[in-house]
Amino acid sequence: MCWIGEREADPAVIASVCAHVHGQLHEPVRTGFEPDRPTQAWDARRKQYETGVILKWLEERHPGAAKILGVTDVDLFIPILTFVFGEAQLGGRAAVVSTARLAPRDGLRLSERTLVERLRKEALHELGHAYGLVHCGTPGCVMGRSPGVAEIDTKGDSLCPDCRLLHDEARRHAR
Ligand SMILES: [Zn+2]
Ligand SMILES: [Zn+2]
Repeated sequence: MCWIGEREADPAVIASVCAHVHGQLHEPVRTGFEPDRPTQAWDARRKQYETGVILKWLEERHPGAAKILGVTDVDLFIPILTFVFGEAQLGGRAAVVSTARLAPRDGLRLSERTLVERLRKEALHELGHAYGLVHCGTPGCVMGRSPGVAEIDTKGDSLCPDCRLLHDEARRHAR
């Protein structure tokens, strides 16, 4: 897991996300220092960063990692959508998640706790996709679709039993 944001990372937030991902996926999680930024993902017309380019960049820079999650604070998009909270290569190695849309954009203040809670869910959600998990309809499951922050807040922060089984299977196949 590495921070690739514009501002400086909050080590407590990164540690919290790490602990959550580790607790849920039972994989060792390492945080790495990333000196560079995927500047080629910048779209000057949209004033956003394209996730597909970031995912490729992450993959190339971390050839040894089983999975690599980039955490950022810049606004992300995929061409067909206005914005995304994050994206992952389904069953691939790379995932990215951003705090940019997790906080209110109208200047309202949000408790740090809610923001971190949202980030923990979306980081796990995107890594779930990297393990081949698709969107899940089980109420409360973290793999539930979340087009907006309301859906993120409504769902739980863990994998449901079905998704957990699928994830265990994906790990077994990876060995
Ligand atoms: Zn998803
Ligand atoms: Zn599920």
